[in-house]
Amino acid sequence: MNSIVIGSGFGGIAAALRLKAKGHNVKLIEKHPDLGGRARVFKKNGFIYDAGPTVITAPYLINELFELFNKDPKNYIELTPLKIWYQFIFEDKTKFNYSGDEIEMKDQIEKLSKEDVNGYEKLVNFTKKIFDKGFLELADVPFDKPFVMMQQLPALLKLKSYKSVYSLVSSYIKNEKLRRMLSMHPLLVGGNPFTTTSIYGLILYLEKKWGIHYSIGGTGEIIKGLEKLMIEENIKIIKGSEITSINLNQNTIKSVQLNNQNEINADNVVFNADPHVVYEKLLKNKKTSTIFNWKKKRMDYSMGLFVYYFGTKKIYEDVEHHTIRFGHKYKEHLDDIFENKKLNEDISYYLHRPTATDKSMAPDGHDCFYVLVPVPNNQSNINWSVEGDKLKELVIKKMENSLLPNLKDNIVEEFYLTPDYFEKELNTKHGSGFSIQPKFSQSAYFRFHNKSEICDGLYFVGAGTHPGAGVPGVLSSAKVLDKIL
Ligand SMILES: Cc1cc2nc3c(=O)[nH]c(=O)nc-3n(C[C@H](O)[C@H](O)[C@H](O)COP(=O)(O)OP(=O)(O)OC[C@H]3O[C@@H](n4cnc5c(N)ncnc54)[C@H](O)[C@@H]3O)c2cc1C
Repeated sequence: MNSIVIGSGFGGIAAALRLKAKGHNVKLIEKHPDLGGRARVFKKNGFIYDAGPTVITAPYLINELFELFNKDPKNYIELTPLKIWYQFIFEDKTKFNYSGDEIEMKDQIEKLSKEDVNGYEKLVNFTKKIFDKGFLELADVPFDKPFVMMQQLPALLKLKSYKSVYSLVSSYIKNEKLRRMLSMHPLLVGGNPFTTTSIYGLILYLEKKWGIHYSIGGTGEIIKGLEKLMIEENIKIIKGSEITSINLNQNTIKSVQLNNQNEINADNVVFNADPHVVYEKLLKNKKTSTIFNWKKKRMDYSMGLFVYYFGTKKIYEDVEHHTIRFGHKYKEHLDDIFENKKLNEDISYYLHRPTATDKSMAPDGHDCFYVLVPVPNNQSNINWSVEGDKLKELVIKKMENSLLPNLKDNIVEEFYLTPDYFEKELNTKHGSGFSIQPKFSQSAYFRFHNKSEICDGLYFVGAGTHPGAGVPGVLSSAKVLDKIL
């Protein structure tokens, strides 16, 4: 069986390995000269910047890929658990060290709001139930038939999946700061906590179950380890080549076209790219049903991301590995991003400082960072060549005033990415950071199916298909593939 996987994000690499383990003859084709997709690495002047994922959860899903070939993951990658998972900081300077230490968690919750300690315990217990169903049971189930969804609906309704994550958390927790911290998880997979189905409350428990890990040398080292494994297992990797169209024989995949030139025949083609773009641009001559066209059209896309990578000649010892800094207003800011599609100066941001754990990420005596600001996706028509620099200055000012004093004078290296990068370089619809939003109406059967709903031999893994974005999500999508191909 000849199978081609297109795209080398975590989902694509996992799919290539899983198919290889089943005996397929596998080729992996990637547009860029390096692997990883959103998890690529930018190396500049001794600084190592992981472009995207930094919070590694459910590490067993990564380890499994090595174990498929009886290889010991420790010979390829080194994951280490973090003690403090996120430090949350509010406008009034309140700090909260969020971790897996339940005694410390409850102590801090008690200081903020005594009455919420009990509610927190109940919330965690409830998210365990969601996790058992939504992750352990359903994350790798192929939702390509309506009856599979129908079977699950009663259980999902019992778990209150019609509620948003924020509203679920608020039914247990009264304090606004705690509500924000305990409901922020959808933002990690591209959703608005005020509209994301409470199924995603499972991430709160998933973190507790296996902890939060860091990959020594950066997340890029995981990609490197997996690339080594693919080479050892004779997966042919073709880099720097873009698939520009799909050729069908009637309704079945026949081949794909590389850079508008060479044609490669395949029995199966697995796309790790954004499904919407594949259907619109690569299969553009294929007539599709009215229902499918409606499904494509009604999809809401995740927010865009402005990511500013910078190195400093000063070491900011007090800054944790992962910091989430909330702005003054929260819901209003999220409404502007997701609904009104406009920029707002009252930003919240996530600051990554890998050098807090791993000095190898920067030259001696230096610190390495990225700051991620959620912004509207490109449906906003924001001109990033004008707004990019302005937003960079705003973020620097905000960080100087709180976490990183004298930052401007200490920056020695910098660059940033906007939704334009995600749209043009990573081929995503509207430059979204995480493909389609994790709403109930876009989850499971309602998402783009892992086995294409419109032609044979075409499959999807990655953020735009079931179960969704985030490293555990896209690795699970490859497990779905395992069951259907
Ligand atoms: C800044 C940022 C921070 C994040 N932080 C975290 C985190 O801390 N933890 C976490 O779990 N998740 C995080 N995420 C989410 C997570 O990184 C993604 O959901 C996941 O990595 C996406 O993987 P994927 O398999 O969907 O493929 P992608 O990474 O989207 O890769 C798709 C690949 O397909 C290639 N491609 C597209 N079209 C073609 C074509 N026509 N021909 C050839 N190649 C093509 C692209 O070049 C790309 O390499 C973050 C994401 C971002 C952007």
